Amino acid sequence: MTKRVVLIGHPVAHSLSGAMQQAAFDALGIGATYEVWDRAPIALAEAVAELRGNDFLGANITIPHKERVVPMIDRQTEDAQATGAVNTITREGKRLIGHNTDVAGFKVALDHLVGKQKMPRQAVVLGAGGGARAVVHGLITEGFQRVIVFNRHLHRAEGLVKHFARSAAHMELRAMPWHDSIIEAELAKTKVLVNATSIGLTGAAIPIAAEILPADLLVLDLIYRRTPLLEAAEASGSRISDGEVMLLHQGAAAFTLWTGQPAPLDVMQSSLVAARAGGVRSAEGEPAGAPGETPADPGSPDAADSPPPGSPTAAVAARD
Ligand code: NDP
Repeated sequence: MTKRVVLIGHPVAHSLSGAMQQAAFDALGIGATYEVWDRAPIALAEAVAELRGNDFLGANITIPHKERVVPMIDRQTEDAQATGAVNTITREGKRLIGHNTDVAGFKVALDHLVGKQKMPRQAVVLGAGGGARAVVHGLITEGFQRVIVFNRHLHRAEGLVKHFARSAAHMELRAMPWHDSIIEAELAKTKVLVNATSIGLTGAAIPIAAEILPADLLVLDLIYRRTPLLEAAEASGSRISDGEVMLLHQGAAAFTLWTGQPAPLDVMQSSLVAARAGGVRSAEGEPAGAPGETPADPGSPDAADSPPPGSPTAAVAARD
C-alpha cells in the first residue's frame, strides 16, 4: 500500500517541503506520497483524526496550526513540549506523537554559521512567534547564557520568556521593547543575531536599520531568501546565513522520523533549489502562494495586526 504523509496548514497550496520530501521518498524507493491539505482551524481536529489510519506515516504541521494541534495528539517529544509547538507528527499504531524538528533544524543552521569558531554565549532574537520559540529553545539547550528577545508586540515576547522561565532559570532570558536604540545597545554586547520575524519575506523590508548593525556579527535569518537584513549585515562585515539549512534539516529530521531511514540530504537540497527556481515559495512557516505568485506582504494590513506606535512596521511600510 502506498503510504501517505500530509502537510496541514492554512493557507497552503504549494510547498517547498512537498518538493523536498517527495524527492526523498522517490530517491530511496519508498512508496509514499506527500500531500498538501489546506485546512482552516475549524477543520483541523477532523484532519488530525484521519492521520490515525494505517495508510499514514505522519504529517507536517505549519502555520497557523503548530500550537493549536498540541491537544489533538497523544504524546509530545521533549522539543515539542518545551516549545509548545508541533511541526511533525508520527504514528505509533493509532497513537499520534508530536515532534518539533524546527529545533534540530535551527541547531544545525547555527552550527553551520558558527563554523570552527567557539560557540558564542550571547544572542539577540528578533520575533516571538513559533519560529522564535524553536530558536530560543535551541539557544538555551546549546548553552547560551544571555538571550534578548525583541518583538513588535512586546507582550508576546514577554509571554515567550515566561514560557521558558523554568528551562532558562540558570541564564538570562529577557524581553525588551523594540526600539532601534535599545537593539543597537544589545547588539554591541552580542555575537549572534537571529531574525525570526517574517520581515524580509518579500520586498525590501528590513527589521532594523542597517546603520545599527555592528561589524563581525553572526547573522541568521530564518527566511529562506537572501533578505535585505542579510545583505546589510554582510555589507557591514558580518557572517550570514539564510533559512535554507534550517528548512532542509527540519525536513530531514521529519523524514527520518517517518521512515526510520537517514534522509538523502543532497537530493532534498537539490529539490529545494529546483522548486524555488520553479517559483514555489511556500516553506514551513511561509505564506503559501501559487508558483510565481508573491505571497501577502507581512507588512501589509492584511497580513499583520495593527502595530503599536514606534514599531518596526512603520519602517517596513517606508522601505517597501
Ligand atoms: P509567526 O506568525 O508565529 O510569527 C511571526 C513573527 O514575525 C512575530 O514575531 C511577528 O511579530 C513578526 N512580524 C510579522 N510581521 C511583522 C511586521 N510587519 N512588523 C514587525 N514584526 C512582524 O511565524 P513563525 O514564527 O512561524 O515564522 C517567522 C518566520 O520564520 C517566517 O518568515 C518563516 O518563514 C520563518 N521560519 C523558517 C523556518 C525554516 O525552517 N527556515 C522554520 C520556521 C519559521 P508580532 O508578534 O508582533 O506580530
